[in-house]
Amino acid sequence: MKSHVQVAVIGGGVVGASVLYHLTKLGWKDVVLIERSELTSGSTWHAAGGFHTLNADTNMAALQGYTIGLYRELEEISGQSCGLHHVGGLTLATTPERMDQLRAERAKHRYMGLDTEIVGPEEIRRLSPITNTDGVIGALYDPLDGHLDPSGTTHAYARAAKIQGAEIYLRNKVEALKPRSDGSWEVVTEQGAIIAEHVVNAAGLWARELGRMVGVELPLHPMEHQYLVTEEIPEVLARDSELPHVMDPTGESYLRQEGQGLVIGFYEQDCDPWAVGGTPWDFGHELLDNRLERIGDALEYAYRRYPVLERAGIKNIINGPFTFAPDGNPLVGPVPGLRNFWSACAVMAGFSQGGGVGLTLAEWMVEGEPSRDVFAMDVARFGDSCTRAYTRTKVRENYQRRFAVSYPNEELPAGRPLHSTPIYSEWRAQRAVFGQAYGTEHVNYFALPGEPLEETPTFRRSNAWQAVAAECRAVREAVGINEVHNFGKFEIRGAGAADWLDRLMAGRMPKVGRLSLSPMLSPKGRLIGDFTIARQAEDVFQLTASYAAQAFHQRWFEQHLPADGVQLRNISLQRIGFQIAGPRARELLSRVADIDVSNAALPFLSTATCEVGLCDAIIQRVSYTGDLGYEIYVDASQQLALYRALSEAGADLGLRPFGMRAMMSLRLEKSFGSWMREFKPDYTPLETGMERFVAYRKPADFIGKAAALAEREAGVARRLATFIVDAADADVHGDEPIWQGEQVIGFVTSGGYAHYSEKSVAIGFLPVEQIAEGAEVEIEILGERRRATLFTGMLFDGDGARMRG
Ligand SMILES: Cc1cc2nc3c(=O)[nH]c(=O)nc-3n(C[C@H](O)[C@H](O)[C@H](O)COP(=O)(O)OP(=O)(O)OC[C@H]3O[C@@H](n4cnc5c(N)ncnc54)[C@H](O)[C@@H]3O)c2cc1C
Repeated sequence: MKSHVQVAVIGGGVVGASVLYHLTKLGWKDVVLIERSELTSGSTWHAAGGFHTLNADTNMAALQGYTIGLYRELEEISGQSCGLHHVGGLTLATTPERMDQLRAERAKHRYMGLDTEIVGPEEIRRLSPITNTDGVIGALYDPLDGHLDPSGTTHAYARAAKIQGAEIYLRNKVEALKPRSDGSWEVVTEQGAIIAEHVVNAAGLWARELGRMVGVELPLHPMEHQYLVTEEIPEVLARDSELPHVMDPTGESYLRQEGQGLVIGFYEQDCDPWAVGGTPWDFGHELLDNRLERIGDALEYAYRRYPVLERAGIKNIINGPFTFAPDGNPLVGPVPGLRNFWSACAVMAGFSQGGGVGLTLAEWMVEGEPSRDVFAMDVARFGDSCTRAYTRTKVRENYQRRFAVSYPNEELPAGRPLHSTPIYSEWRAQRAVFGQAYGTEHVNYFALPGEPLEETPTFRRSNAWQAVAAECRAVREAVGINEVHNFGKFEIRGAGAADWLDRLMAGRMPKVGRLSLSPMLSPKGRLIGDFTIARQAEDVFQLTASYAAQAFHQRWFEQHLPADGVQLRNISLQRIGFQIAGPRARELLSRVADIDVSNAALPFLSTATCEVGLCDAIIQRVSYTGDLGYEIYVDASQQLALYRALSEAGADLGLRPFGMRAMMSLRLEKSFGSWMREFKPDYTPLETGMERFVAYRKPADFIGKAAALAEREAGVARRLATFIVDAADADVHGDEPIWQGEQVIGFVTSGGYAHYSEKSVAIGFLPVEQIAEGAEVEIEILGERRRATLFTGMLFDGDGARMRG
């Protein structure tokens, strides 16, 4: 065993083996894998081995496509068969809502270049004659679906990694991990200690335990899962080609051929987290006891869907545990708060995702950033927002919802409320309908009298329509109030703060008392942040950006923080308050603030401290509604006092609370982009119109400057544009293809209904040469192509008179 290595990957399941392979593929050869037992000694050995590309997140779907395409390469390098069966797969729809979802998926696949298709019952029967299509409306067919041999595949990764220089140490449990002052780790194993410059937690079923060795509680939990293997079935034996997979969401099952029999697995409602107290270290190649009583109903349903099953003998019942994060996606990347400690765990579909996870992590480690946006699986996306009980509750919900239709406006109920602000009960009494982001409640809208206190999940326009329209009107015609807690907020102070921020941010630093808007770039010049920077004093700044990205941003800040001279504090839930927006916002503020709030004294993009009612407040003159507006921040303990002051003073001004749905509608009227929709690490400043906030000529050599300058020199092929859509009862949500004739020429990043302007709006990418006022395209919404007209102006306040006046 080596005594010093560049990387120690801990865990020899399919994920650890993939990470090891990809590190060697990208050129790091001094890498080892440490496995407590034999390879595949966790979840991997009893997997059903199915793979598919379907994933709600586009980049996750692309990485699943990468994984599937990788297996041939692995077989060639390693000489080890992965036991591949590329048989294709059908996902059945028995309801119009499921059909909507499949159509939306199909539409997305068009611009991703994936060759899926919607098929009807007759074609389903032709492809899978054992399927009874009673009640089936249609299906999505994906030719890439298939299955493989889990053990062969893991060994293929491992062998290929060894051929490329890696070493593997088996039967050698990692017992402790000790950080060293130079950022490396002492990895204490049963066979001795190794110094590793980097450590990767790929411990699968034991990833929680490994995290705890370094003081980190990773938000993941194992769940039990069962599948049955049948004896030979005559109808299968009689075929000369292999059956495709069939996913039957209504029956909560997946089915595939295994030899001359079938495998059928269930995601049952009656399920429980496994090993709540921790995964036992002596657990390995044993299976859990059968829990057939849990799948009785689903099995009965399956007999009706696949009548051949009823006559089939059961050869094997597999019940094994595997891990999930609260949203079902993996936890990958640098673990916040630690140096050189990486996560590659909570991979619930190792054979669809393992290759993509390995590639992503290796790129991150070797090249400094992954080649695409991977926030959907970033280990930082939960930050420290999850308690253990919350994680268990969400993981259970996610398991139960494995086959549920996911709607774009859906708010999942489990584990709520967890974090909330003092105003929560007050808003609730005013009929607030809440959503949740990063574990924290926010208001989506206020239900009108007589309306249910719940938004109907749908791909189309929801029952919140009238309420959101009324809130938008209140903002545009009087004054609206909503919370500002769901911005991620940082306070940065110290003698070195200005210089440090100048190097971190691509934009210009504001003068004291002013705000600036600034993108933050990665070294490769991609967008990793979209900040409002407020300079409250020479050496004191407040940064606001996406709430959900706060741990992502904090990790980046901490990675670049100088040894002294700069103090960074995450104040997201500590400094909260409200924004007021609309033509009467100034009058309202003037009634409660003890400073002159006229346009001359407090112009657009300025900041001031003052008293508001009983509170000490910080005011920022800016509003994402695109209207005249102010953000008012106070200490969380004063939020209710601030609310009382504003609501009393605003009563005769038509003050009305509004929620996130109205806010996202109002911003469309100004074509304001939004983080993770228009702005994310897949895109660059010039592609997104953010170049107007990049200070290309400032003296500071900010991160990403060289790449940004090179981009400006070379130009870009695509840019964002806004469209007015001839929509019917459904608006765009994101990822819809944009057609010209029979060609897909772009895709939608976000959109919706702009209530005040009464227009359906889409924002999306088009090739630059196609961007011209009035250009006609079609946008595919739920399988229908709708006419859309490119619009270069603004639906509201085109000259900015209201916002700046
Ligand atoms: C019944 C069942 C069916 C499934 N079907 C499918 C399917 O059809 N398709 C699909 O894609 N996925 C399926 N899965 C999920 C799949 O098994 C997992 O996604 C995958 O195995 C996760 O791999 P891993 O490498 O992350 O973890 P694991 O397989 O759990 O591997 C972790 C490894 O780390 C080692 N380790 C842990 N701690 C230490 C330590 N301290 N020192 C050294 N070594 C350590 C363990 O011994 C183990 O070998 C199924 C799972 C189950 C249970």
